[in-house]
Amino acid sequence: MRLEGKVAIISGGARGMGATEARMFAKEGAKVVFGDVRDDLGKQVEAEINESSGEAIYVSLDVTDVSSWQNAVDTAVSRFGKLDILVNNAGIVNNQSRDDATAEEWDRVMDVNAKGVFLGTKVAIPEMRKAGGGSIVNISSISGMVGQHGIHPGYNASKGAVRLLTKSTAIQYASDGIRANSVHPGPIATPMTEASRADPERYNNSISRTPMGRYGQPEDIAYGVLFLASDESSYMTGSELVIDGGYTAQ
Ligand code: NAD
Repeated sequence: MRLEGKVAIISGGARGMGATEARMFAKEGAKVVFGDVRDDLGKQVEAEINESSGEAIYVSLDVTDVSSWQNAVDTAVSRFGKLDILVNNAGIVNNQSRDDATAEEWDRVMDVNAKGVFLGTKVAIPEMRKAGGGSIVNISSISGMVGQHGIHPGYNASKGAVRLLTKSTAIQYASDGIRANSVHPGPIATPMTEASRADPERYNNSISRTPMGRYGQPEDIAYGVLFLASDESSYMTGSELVIDGGYTAQ
């Protein structure tokens, strides 16, 4: 198994890509702590993983709150003995665009998507050092590489911040054996994109910009995250893994 003996934390794991990664990591032998603000959904995913012979613990986690992160890391260490992997996956999007975009939503999007990654990293690093190294996988987006219509500009800014924060983490902690890489999904069929997929204009706009002509599935991203989390990518740090059906290739 590709994550045998590893202990991982995944944020935003109650649904979407985070839940898929929690299931996949457990199947590949990791002991998983995953957190979210959607406790009911998170507990359902926890039960499902443990019933299918994986090992996972759900914790309430608000990524904007440092004590909430500390609780997640303490849970990993007290229940599973250490921390090797952190996946900063939690994120929100807001469709206010152009003149409608408010400063309040700027703060909210930046808080969850950018500060949340900074806080998770900050709290996880001391335990990764104790473990002799680790792998941090930050979920950015194609929105961290190119501008987009129809979303709050803060979403682009927050995902761009995650891209560079990842490189900063990579160079600052390489000497501790801690790697950090970012993942840049294109349009993926998760609850986050449910409303845009149901709107013919927004759906067609996404599809027409994606050379492969379809939304990706959460598994398309989770396999990339699994690779970066595992020792298979042991010489990769500060890099960007784009999984977007060709969206940013044109
Ligand atoms: P999703 O909405 O289905 O899942 C995101 C999860 O994050 C939810 O369970 C949500 O409750 C959780 N979350 C939100 N705020 C939180 C907080 N403060 N603390 C803890 N958890 C919180 O979305 P998804 O599509 O699975 O997105 C996962 C990541 O991928 C996000 O960072 C998103 O920005 C990014 N992304 C998504 C797409 C896409 O097309 N779906 C594309 C590129 C990047």
